[in-house]
Amino acid sequence: MTVPLTATGATLASPEEVRAFVDTEIVPYADTWDQDERLPAPLMARMGELGLWAPFLPPAAGGSGTSWSALGRLHEEIGRGCSSVRSFLTVHTMVTWTVQRWGSDAQRGRWLPGLATGEILGAFCLTEPGSGSDAAAPGTVATPAGSGWVINGEKKWMTAGQAAGLLLVFGQTETGMSAFLVDARAPGVEITPIRGVMGTRAGMLASIALRDVRVGPDALIGPPGWAAGTVMTGALDLGRYSVACGCVGIVQACLDACVAYTSGRRVRDGQLSELQLIRRKISDMVVGVRAARLLCAEAGRLKDADDPATIMATWVAKYHASTAATAAASDAVQIHGANGFTADHPAARLFRDSKVAEVIEGSTELQQITIAGEAYREVAR
Ligand SMILES: Cc1cc2nc3c(=O)[nH]c(=O)nc-3n(C[C@H](O)[C@H](O)[C@H](O)COP(=O)(O)OP(=O)(O)OC[C@H]3O[C@@H](n4cnc5c(N)ncnc54)[C@H](O)[C@@H]3O)c2cc1C
Repeated sequence: MTVPLTATGATLASPEEVRAFVDTEIVPYADTWDQDERLPAPLMARMGELGLWAPFLPPAAGGSGTSWSALGRLHEEIGRGCSSVRSFLTVHTMVTWTVQRWGSDAQRGRWLPGLATGEILGAFCLTEPGSGSDAAAPGTVATPAGSGWVINGEKKWMTAGQAAGLLLVFGQTETGMSAFLVDARAPGVEITPIRGVMGTRAGMLASIALRDVRVGPDALIGPPGWAAGTVMTGALDLGRYSVACGCVGIVQACLDACVAYTSGRRVRDGQLSELQLIRRKISDMVVGVRAARLLCAEAGRLKDADDPATIMATWVAKYHASTAATAAASDAVQIHGANGFTADHPAARLFRDSKVAEVIEGSTELQQITIAGEAYREVAR
């Protein structure tokens, strides 16, 4: 199917330019954004200039045709600087990919130009107050009305919900789970900021109520009742990949911070960097980041090859990378002592942000269940 668009986005910046952007325009401000509980609008525009929002789109749709492997490295780099920024990229990727992969020509034509540049940000609206891990059980309902639908329900914990222009909303229709593209400004959409979360505090989370929201037939992705094994599975796989890669960045940030801190701090027994118990923690971070990076690279390689084995490889990568991130961040706080509890050093934010990754896009427990289940299935084959 052709994309009825002409290029509108910026070409993706080089890896060196992205690294410089993270070092100079993200790292110095991440703790301020964390305290403010929001990301500044100029940052969003700057990310658009650098082509960061949806580089995986083909050039005709405003992207750079970037591979999934390259996208993973990009999300690692952003995750090194700020997990809240990475979380925006994660959900935006999930929504934009859905429009590109499963949308009609009309849906692509309407939404992709804005999504490509980040002028329209996407929010992925699956979780509800009563259903999280059990993603297939949303209480949101879409009822046929004329040629379109009326949607009613409550969504909770939407990353970027305070900033998004396009909501990808999952709800039940008569034949099963369906996915809808809903304009965040549509009458009946009520967006309530969620404040005071522990990690990714600048992720601008929101609860989103849908009260008799009327959408046309062009809001539905694919046929009714069709979203569970297609839109939802594919988007969650990409989200999981993005979070895994972001966690590689967290471990790298912990390592960088700890090497710098221990090199400049003396205790009674000498320089921190010379103490064996400290070096053990540093070596765990080195091994953790390298192993996680390799697992993410493998998941990305399989995505680029369109190999369905990428689904399990991504579960494994996310499980390892997220638990490596929480371990590294916990050690980073320990190494920084009292300083690790303050916003003067990144360790505290990295610690809080890393824990989020063990809950979202398939919690640690769901990953353990899924990965072990695959091991038993392999034996039975
Ligand atoms: C910062 C943040 C951002 C988020 N952003 C989004 C977003 O953009 N869009 C969105 O749709 N959702 C989002 N979420 C919600 C997230 O996807 C859910 O929190 C997640 O799916 C877990 O669901 P839950 O919180 O309801 O936990 P529950 O499902 O209630 O699970 C609670 C605990 O029980 C464990 N558990 C569940 N089932 C089992 C089992 N069978 N065996 C053993 N243990 C089990 C879980 O692992 C977890 O530890 C976000 C959450 C956070 C914290």
